[in-house]
Amino acid sequence: MANDCLFCKIIAGTIPCNKVYEDDEVLAFRDIAPQAPTHVLVIPKKHITGPAAVTEEDDSLMGRLLRAARQVADREGLSDYRLVCNNGAGVGQSVFHLHLHILGGRPMGWPPG
Ligand code: 5GP
Ligand code: ZN
Repeated sequence: MANDCLFCKIIAGTIPCNKVYEDDEVLAFRDIAPQAPTHVLVIPKKHITGPAAVTEEDDSLMGRLLRAARQVADREGLSDYRLVCNNGAGVGQSVFHLHLHILGGRPMGWPPG
């Protein structure tokens, strides 16, 4: 728990969220500014600042995170979806607590912008 972290406050329940999945290590909730018909954020309850801060200790947690994302996508009825995990402000990271964006429900171009 980082006191100044928005997502840690969501995990603690001090800031509300529209929760779609929770287990002992992972939480998923709808993005406040959706960029697609389905836009869900999947986060570890452990405060990790971003993908570059993942360590060997987190190996099983990262597997849990990916499997939780698949469960959310299944529940949303998505077979095709995009997982985005930004690392650094230069590519758009604005919350420094690791999160996977699940984006789906509309066609998407490649490469991303
Ligand atoms: P990033 O830009 O760091 O990859 O993604 C952060 C995401 O968090 C953004 O898509 C933004 O819309 C979302 N977000 C920021 N503040 C809140 C909030 O208070 N609640 C929810 N549900 N999403 C938020
Ligand atoms: Zn945090």
